[in-house]
Amino acid sequence: MADLTTLGRRVRHFRAAAGLTLDQVSDATGTAPSHLSLIENGRREPRLSLLEAIAEALGVSAAALLDPTPPSPRAALEIELERAQAAPAYRELGLPHLRPTRAMTDETLRAVVGLHRELDRRARQAIATPEQARQANTQLRHDMRAVNNYLPEIELLAQESTSRVGHHSGALTHRTVAQMADQVGLAIVHTDDLPHSARCVVDMDRGRIYIPPASIPGGHGLRSLALQAIAHQVLEHRPPEDYGDFLRQRLEASYFAAACLMPRAASVAFLAEAKREHNIAIEDLRDAFGVTHEAAALRFTNLATEHLGLTLHYVRVNGDGTVTGAYENDGLPLPLDATGSTEGEVVCRFWSARRAFARRTRTTEHYQYTDTPAGTFFESTQTGTGNPDDFSITLGVPYRESRWFRGRETPWRETSTCPDAACCRRPADGLAERWEGKGWASPRVRSHLFAPLPHGTYPGVDDRELYEFLESHAGLDA
Ligand SMILES: [Zn+2]
Repeated sequence: MADLTTLGRRVRHFRAAAGLTLDQVSDATGTAPSHLSLIENGRREPRLSLLEAIAEALGVSAAALLDPTPPSPRAALEIELERAQAAPAYRELGLPHLRPTRAMTDETLRAVVGLHRELDRRARQAIATPEQARQANTQLRHDMRAVNNYLPEIELLAQESTSRVGHHSGALTHRTVAQMADQVGLAIVHTDDLPHSARCVVDMDRGRIYIPPASIPGGHGLRSLALQAIAHQVLEHRPPEDYGDFLRQRLEASYFAAACLMPRAASVAFLAEAKREHNIAIEDLRDAFGVTHEAAALRFTNLATEHLGLTLHYVRVNGDGTVTGAYENDGLPLPLDATGSTEGEVVCRFWSARRAFARRTRTTEHYQYTDTPAGTFFESTQTGTGNPDDFSITLGVPYRESRWFRGRETPWRETSTCPDAACCRRPADGLAERWEGKGWASPRVRSHLFAPLPHGTYPGVDDRELYEFLESHAGLDA
């Protein structure tokens, strides 16, 4: 049965079409005009016998009245307005209930309904305030810590995908990635006009993955991009329901890509051998599989606890010391804000992550021991030059595990008492007094990790750009 609003509109529509007044239908059906009016306004449900009498008076079938489609475009708008105003999101605003009278023009009605649609879209869209985004991110970090950053189901899916194309070790070639895409019915298309807000777009309708041209600097990242696009298909991801869902999907896709680039069996064998030789080094893992240092370090965090029996920490910071990514299951006291989030917080200036920036030679890893309130850690850090900022990638382990790692004989040792402010944030005695009121600085504007995101189905991606891109490419030959 159609909802009462639609039913009422259909009754009124057919009454008008038949040229009958409420009084005339009242006489024909033996029902008070006021009652008929309530039915037409969707406020009363007619008994079936009355409905049949009304249908007969209007010269239509009862089925025609019960049809769930609006009788006209105008009625469709009126029904949508009624529904929108009945929704909790509107009612909690405490605004008046607007009745679509005949005096209301179509234009007015379209404007009001359009506003309701936008209100609804904004309420539903998978965007988050920076605060919610940080909380979702923190939750995900805790969840991953609980499983030692290891996702066996995705390891298996990646293993199946790489085995099917015969990839087991060494660097995964672009050609092999294309074969993997083909396995899930996708073709990789390089294009230089991707929407600015997207790094990769998939046209599921036509089976295409659009990624930037192969010639861009650091083109290695393209394999990972394509693999992540493949991952969303293999993992059967749907448009995310909220920001937490979005982050989890992104993490799973990255995990899948990493597990393809550095297959578990070969990676574990490589690392186990290095451990036997007391010579574990992220730079070796990186070079053996032809990936970035960051990718190798992250992959190490997936496998080290489960397969090598090591606890560890991973920290990626920008040149200014702010955390842009972190994971630990060895108790390293990461800097946290009041909500427990570490992204955007500044790490101790004595940590390897920041001391490495002070080195003159940055081509090799920086090794150091760091004493903290939670114990001593051995850390190796690789710095990189990025856009817009330098960054460093640190992999660390508790002191007792240092024996498995290259660089353990380093004489470099630092002491950190953070989060105690006296460690590295409070000015030395007398300095603050000396400069109070005499110094002034303007902050550098940072593009924050969780800055508000463009609205859209996919957080951070502009819907219009996305759909216009897909439309404009749909007709072109692959
Ligand atoms: Zn400190």
